[in-house]
Amino acid sequence: MTSKNIKIGIVGGSIAGCSAAILLLEQGYDVTVFERSNKPLVGRGGGIGTTTSLLEKIKNDGLIGNDFVQFHTSEMPFIGKTQSHEPYGRTAWSIPLDFKVFQWNELWKHLRKNVPSNRYKAGIKIVKANLNNDSKVELTTENNKREVFDLVLFADGYNSLGRQIIFPDKKLEYRGYILWRGLLPENKISNSCPLENKILRLSYQDKPGHNVVYYIPNSDGTSDKGNRVFNWAAYIAIPEDELNNLLTDKNGNIRQGTLPPGYMSSSTEKKLKHYLTQNIPDYYSEIVEKTVDSYIQVIYTLDLDNYHKDNICLIGDAGIVVQPFTGSGVFKGYNNAKDLIDCLKSKNTIEKALKLWNEKQLKTGKNLLALGEQMEKAFIWEQLDFAKVDEETTKKWWKDSVSFPENFNYSKNK
Ligand SMILES: Cc1cc2nc3c(=O)[nH]c(=O)nc-3n(C[C@H](O)[C@H](O)[C@H](O)COP(=O)(O)OP(=O)(O)OC[C@H]3O[C@@H](n4cnc5c(N)ncnc54)[C@H](O)[C@@H]3O)c2cc1C
Repeated sequence: MTSKNIKIGIVGGSIAGCSAAILLLEQGYDVTVFERSNKPLVGRGGGIGTTTSLLEKIKNDGLIGNDFVQFHTSEMPFIGKTQSHEPYGRTAWSIPLDFKVFQWNELWKHLRKNVPSNRYKAGIKIVKANLNNDSKVELTTENNKREVFDLVLFADGYNSLGRQIIFPDKKLEYRGYILWRGLLPENKISNSCPLENKILRLSYQDKPGHNVVYYIPNSDGTSDKGNRVFNWAAYIAIPEDELNNLLTDKNGNIRQGTLPPGYMSSSTEKKLKHYLTQNIPDYYSEIVEKTVDSYIQVIYTLDLDNYHKDNICLIGDAGIVVQPFTGSGVFKGYNNAKDLIDCLKSKNTIEKALKLWNEKQLKTGKNLLALGEQMEKAFIWEQLDFAKVDEETTKKWWKDSVSFPENFNYSKNK
């Protein structure tokens, strides 16, 4: 099918929306992105990572430039707190890695730069999508402006409006834990640092969950020693009936899904800091203790039976929502868009292309979900205490948690 006469609307101008726009524009499709935020999507992001090979691919596809600032990580130590090994903790085992970590903001800035401004409509919120009889899709904005597209991709994140419109029965499922995150400039900690080229995983002395710590470059793009930023992210089990209390911000409003930087009440911050500093080695406690403006993301998953209904498609986190351990935040939107291009090229109607595309997205999405559940079991509910276990036990635990589950039969068991 020729791309020239296909008009595509993309709802959401974050990672998935911009990735899809760049790839589709490159193929000659007529693309418009609608992003509800009228400001650059910076200032909220922390660290994010992906494999070296995927980063190379997205560079080769023109999504990010050669000046993209990132750190290479080559090792992942598993560390536990014990008095005899303070302040850095005891390493049970360390696994070699080939992984890149960077600022979420840096990724978005590069992607955004590669979507021409006349194709990116910032400050436009989509409130409705209607399927017309001729199988075209009409999008309606908050200001009641309407525009018709041959194909619409909802890239509007885990709480997707597009998903609610086409699959209203599908609901997010709370996984029983949150991700509490923070950033601290490297120069706030005085002594030498054992973090160079590493992603650390710190267990909490037999309790569920763990804390991930690594360096990322500074938000201004500097990456030299002394100017880096500690990025930490703590998975903490929280019963569902305590969520509202945790997500009540400093103004007394109950937040849904996220508690952004700067909004945490001092009592919540104190409670979380106390919990973490009791359970991780002293050096990392200090990083957490000194962090200001930490924030919370609630962890949900959502399974789907389809990635599209007629000519409305879901990409990125608007599709199947998986656990963050799978590291698929960068991958999903890119992969959804690459597959879409291949399918549109190989079929002579949009309908046939979407049928094929749907099968591929479901397979990948469900595989990621299965892997995510298996990793969740190991990293949250059956987390080892790295202060106590030997290398062999840790190796086996790791291998079992990340090998793709052939006969997947795990059901959540908290
Ligand atoms: C500002 C921001 C910072 C983030 N920081 C991190 C981070 O540091 N680390 C990490 O791992 N993940 C982060 N995430 C989440 C991460 O981007 C996603 O998990 C993943 O990359 C998938 O991206 P996505 O494009 O599918 O969805 P998202 O990144 O969630 O983007 C969805 C986009 O759709 C827009 N949108 C939603 N509804 C509408 C509508 N009705 N009309 C128009 N636009 C709409 C939103 O404003 C948003 O820009 C962040 C997300 C955002 C938006």
